[in-house]
Order: sequence, then structure tokens, then C-alpha cells
Amino acid sequence: MTATMREDVRLWSMQTEFARASHDALDVDALSREELVNALNRSRERFLGLIDDNPDMNYILDRLGAVIEMNHAGEQLLGYTKEELQAGGDFTQHMLEADIPAALVHFGRVLERNVEQFETRLVHRSGKILTFEVLARPMIEDGQVVGLFGIARDVTARREIERQLQESEQRYRSLFENNVDVVVTFDTEGKFLYLNSATERLLGVPSRDLVGKPFLPLIVPHRRTHTEREFTRVLEGQPVQYQSAIYNKRREVIDMHFSVIPIFHQGQITKVHCIGKDITKQKQLERKLNQLAFFDPLTGLPNRNSLDTNLSRQVGESREFAVLALDLDRLKVVNETWGRETGDRLLKIIAHRLRDFLPSRADFFRYSGDDFIVTYYYETDDECLSFARSLEARLRDPVVLGDVELSITSRIGISTFPDDGIDPDTLLRKADNAMFAARHNGRNRVAFYRDVKSKDESRQFQLEIALRSAIANDELSLAFHPQIDLATGEVHGVEALLRWLHPQYGQVPPDQFIPVAEESGLIHEIGMWVIEAACHQAVAWNDAGLGCLPVSVNISVHQFYDDDFADQLETVIRVSGIDPSRLVLEITETISSNSDVVVAQLHRFKRIGVRIAIDDFGTGYSSLRYLKDFPVDYLKIDRSFVDHLESNEKERRLVATITALAHNFGLQTIAEGTETAEQVAIMRDLGADHAQGYFFSRPLAPDAFVSWLAARA
Ligand code: C2E
Ligand code: MG
Ligand code: MG
Repeated sequence: MTATMREDVRLWSMQTEFARASHDALDVDALSREELVNALNRSRERFLGLIDDNPDMNYILDRLGAVIEMNHAGEQLLGYTKEELQAGGDFTQHMLEADIPAALVHFGRVLERNVEQFETRLVHRSGKILTFEVLARPMIEDGQVVGLFGIARDVTARREIERQLQESEQRYRSLFENNVDVVVTFDTEGKFLYLNSATERLLGVPSRDLVGKPFLPLIVPHRRTHTEREFTRVLEGQPVQYQSAIYNKRREVIDMHFSVIPIFHQGQITKVHCIGKDITKQKQLERKLNQLAFFDPLTGLPNRNSLDTNLSRQVGESREFAVLALDLDRLKVVNETWGRETGDRLLKIIAHRLRDFLPSRADFFRYSGDDFIVTYYYETDDECLSFARSLEARLRDPVVLGDVELSITSRIGISTFPDDGIDPDTLLRKADNAMFAARHNGRNRVAFYRDVKSKDESRQFQLEIALRSAIANDELSLAFHPQIDLATGEVHGVEALLRWLHPQYGQVPPDQFIPVAEESGLIHEIGMWVIEAACHQAVAWNDAGLGCLPVSVNISVHQFYDDDFADQLETVIRVSGIDPSRLVLEITETISSNSDVVVAQLHRFKRIGVRIAIDDFGTGYSSLRYLKDFPVDYLKIDRSFVDHLESNEKERRLVATITALAHNFGLQTIAEGTETAEQVAIMRDLGADHAQGYFFSRPLAPDAFVSWLAARA
């Protein structure tokens, strides 16, 4: 009952005070009906002035329940005039049928001098049902209960609101209880007030063990500061969302996403609601994707993406650092000799070895294949150089793979920020260029970009850069130049000649790019590519029934002196399946300057089983020694002799001598550059065994060669 209502009743009660004091002395039943009505009327007069202004229904009923008095508000609330109500018999007529029995009980109790308070529903004239909170008191005159009076307050709207509230409360409860997510209410100190069963399940802790306890200890230590900060923001009135991680009962870490909102009551934050989602699986996936995106799966090292991110950050700082491009020399051979799996194991061992070796000032990335990048905050140039050398030396420590012991050589190119570049791309490119230059310096060398940069702007350097990606971009191919047996006219063999078709430069002649390849060290890789491609082509032709044509390949001096060359050659031969006696290595005379090494190397080749041709014979110095000391199979008489054959008798005699000598030492001769039938005829007369030249054909692409061969048959 509200305060105003209570006040009204108090006033009314005072009006009857006197009557009440003496009621015990009166005998109610002794009064006649007429006397009762008179008494009631007297009482009524006294109250009328009071009740008419009251906003609640004020009523007086007689002992039979008939309406004696009704204030204006009552008329309004029920939709009838007082007269209509008075004429309408007892009050139950205006009651909702279902509520009548209960109301009668209260009515009876009032007549027994009790004050009753209850709720009932009345029906408005329009049929609308209204809920009233009713207060009913006995009206006592002369010690007799002459009727009853009271107040009825329309609480329809309030009840409706309460009902709705209750409903929404229930809805909220069920949302709260049945939610699969964690729903928790905290007090402003971060202590648990309520939590739903999903929370209990997730944490493995019953509600009673949590209520009253702070949540912070449940947060994993490294997220606590952040979580506290977010909670503070909520207490400042701001709803927040954030990720955190918590422990469950078994101390397992669960990744969570929280939405936390402040709950205001009368302008004050009294509670905090929190909804938490378990995102452990999502996080795991994220971590896995991140791992894939930023780490190399084989070595576990940060990958190129990581490098890009790191470098972009580093160039934003003012601190000097070096970019070291590191390339392993023999990975390809290892792959080919012992298989990829061994190659992978080697990479892993090397990667871990270096990672453990690096100081904290260095970061280590796998860039691609056998290319690694180290970024290093260096102190002085000398210090940086000795760091690079120590890396290189550490790499050279033998690696044991099963029963194989390997020593890995590497080269390292260094660019520095900001001297060599202020953006990641430039720094990487320059470190890479320095690395290639390091190769040129010999094995196991380290080079600073600044020491090689004079080359950078030249056309040769442009070619070198382009040439580096030529294999990967599939720009290289072979042309085959037939060699004809002059005695039989049959095809004796073919020489494989390298062709490079660059997307911008077009066909680059070998005379231009071979020197670049030699100088940059690229010749090792490219030369091996040529041998591989030539062997595979020869085997393919043989398999296709074109016969077992010997194939010649040109070997550069640099390859010849490479310690690893013979090993690699053997691998290629084995992998391709070519009969080694069908492979001819063409080497030029210029190699003979260091004859002991040359002889040893040539014998090595012979043991492998390949044949050897001296290319461009007659243009070098020590021509004749080849014939005596070197295990050689062919002499290729240089084109310069052919040019003067027809006119120059001396030249003809020289060629005759060469062929005679060659035959004497068991060598066959091949005349190069024969362009006319006459030249071919003269060469045959002078004792040449084979001839090669435009007279027979230009160097041909593989398909063209097959057609050419078919046309001759
Ligand atoms: P080479 O080994 O002496 O190859 C013969 C060169 O003479 C080829 O030029 C060939 O096309 C050309 N030639 C053949 N017959 C005639 C002819 O009748 N008249 C004229 N005018 N020229 C003829 P190409 O293909 O331009 O090769 C030039 C040089 O490039 C080769 O000379 C060789 O030293 C080098 N080379 C080509 N391929 C390779 C390779 O794979 N590795 C290495 N290291 N060097 C190669
Ligand atoms: Mg040649
Ligand atoms: Mg030649």
C-alpha cells in the first residue's frame, strides 16, 4: 500500500475514532435496519467532502454490499455515474466473475470488523478489465458495523508493467542460464555475483566456489594487466570487448573473447555483465595460419613474409643494421645425390645450427630454397665482417647425415642500412648482388655491397641480374648443331649450344652472356643446367628410336676448375641415365696454363667415362701438348682455319699437319665452321674426320633437329 493511500485511510480512521471507542458497548444486532441506515447516513455525510477529490476510488458499501457512496474517481474508473452504481445493486455486479468468491470472503471478514486488503478485478462499463488494490474497513456507527468503506486503487498499468518485467526477467534468466556462452555478473570489484552453468562447465568449478571471489586469478598472468585495464574502462562506463585467456580447473589455458558492459542503477555503476566466448579453437587455427603465413614449415624459421614485416619495421627505426644474404653452395648436389629428403634434413640441421649460433642482435629468415637472410645490428664494418665470416665458418663445420659427412660452403653478401638503401627491396637486392659477387671472388667468401657496387650500373650487371632468374623463368634453351662424319656422310653427333631468350632483351648471343655468367659465378648453375638438359635430350632421342647420338656440351674454364664439378657431373649422368661415353665435354685450350691440375681433372672425367674435345683448337698457345699429355678424344679445328683454306696453301698445310698429329695420338678431328661444299671437301681431303657448320645446318631447336634428321634419311 502506498504512503498516500495509507494517509487517506488514517484520516478516515480518525473520523470513526469516537465510534470505535464505544463500539463494544453497542449491540449491533439490536439496531433495526432503519436505525442502521440513519447511522450510516450520518457517517457518510462526514466523509463526503474528503473523498471526492481523491484520485483513487473511494467507496462506501452497506452491509449488503450495495454502493452507498462513490467518489468521482470511482465513477471515472468504472464508467458509471454514482447514481447508476447506487441503483445497480451489490458491488459484485462490477466484479470479474472469477474474483467474486475471494472478494466475498474479504467482505465477510470486514463485517467481522477486520481491515482487509486484497486485489481484485473490476469490469469497466466498456468491458475492460481493471485490476484494483482494495482496502476495506468496517464502518462503525454506534458500535455497530453499518457498512464498509475503503479505497480501491487502479493498479492495472502497474500490474501490466510488473507482468512484463517478470516475463523479461524470466526471459533474461533463461538466456542467462541456458546460454552456451559464459555469462557472468560481477560486482564493481570484479568479484563474481552470478554465473551461469556454462561458466561452471567451462571452468570446471561450481558456482558456489566462485561467488564472492575475484576473477583476476583466473586470467593467465600475461593477460592480467590488459584485462584489468579493460575492466577499469568498464567501470568508467564504457562497454568493451577484448580477448584474453583464462585457466580452467585443470590449469588448461582457454582463449576467450569477452564483451563486458556496465550496469547502471540510478546513475551509478553497480554491476558489470560479462559475456565470454570460448575461442580456443579459433585461436589455434589463427596460430596455425599465422605459423603457415610467417614461418617456413621445413625449418621452422621465420619466412619471407616475416622478413618483409621485420625489414619494414627496421627501416623505420634510425638504427643502422646489415642485411646478410646467405646462399648454400651444394644443396642442389645433395638433393640430386642423396635425394630431397636428405637435402631437407641438411637444411634443417643447418638452419637450427645457425639459429642457435646467432646472437640476439641478429634475426634469421629462410628466404627461399637454400637462400637465407640474416639481419644484424652491427657495430663497426670490421665487426660485421667478422660476424659474417664466423657464420660462414660455422656453416662449414661438417654435417653428418647417416654415413655421409658433408661440409657446406656458402657465400654471404652484405648490404647496410641506410648507406646502401633505405627500403627493404633495395637492401635485399644489394645484399643479393653482393652475394653473387662473393661467388666470383672464389669459394667461401663474404662481400660487402659497397665493394662490388661499381658494377651495379653497367649493362653487364643488368645482364647478370636478368641472367640470374633465367633458369627459373624458363628463358634458357638448347640448340643442337649436327656434326657430320665426313667418310660416311652420316650424322656423327650434335653440339648443344645454349640459347637465352630474354623477354626484354630478346635473343642474347652466348658470346655476350657467357662471359657475364662466368664472371658472376652463374656459369656453375647454368653450365650444369646445360649438361642436364643435353643429357635428357640425348636420352629422349635414343628412347624415341633416333639412335644413340653423342652430344657435346661446352664447359667453361670456371666449371673445369670447380672442385665440385666432377661430382655434379656424375650425378647428372646417373640421374639422366645417359651412357657417359655418349657425352662429350668441349673445353678450350686456355685451361692448359695449369697443367697438373688440368691433367688430374681430365683423368677424373675419363674415370667417369665421358669423352673430351678440345674446342677452338689452334687459337690458343700450347696446342700440341694436348695431343701428347692429355687424355683427349677430339680436336675441333677452329673456324679461323676454315676461312682461309681455299686461298691459303700454308693454312691448308697447317690443317693437314694437325689432323696427322691428332691421328697419331689416336684423336679424331672435327672441322668447325664449314659453310660451303668446297670447304667440306677440302677438310675431308686434309684428313678431318668430321665437320660441323652452316653448310650442313644451322644450330637447330630439338624439334627442328628431328625434322632435319628425318629429311636426310
Ligand atoms: P663454339 O663452342 O665454338 O660453338 C660454335 C659456334 O660457332 C656456335 O655459335 C655456332 O653457331 C657457330 N657456328 C657453327 N657453325 C658455323 C658456321 O658454319 N659459320 C659460322 N659463322 N658460325 C658457325 P654460338 O652458338 O653463337 O656459340 C658461340 C660460343 O658460345 C660457342 O662457341 C661457345 O664457346 C659458347 N657457348 C655456347 N653454348 C655454350 C654453353 O652451353 N656453355 C659454354 N660454356 N659456352 C657455350
Ligand atoms: Mg663448342
Ligand atoms: Mg668452337
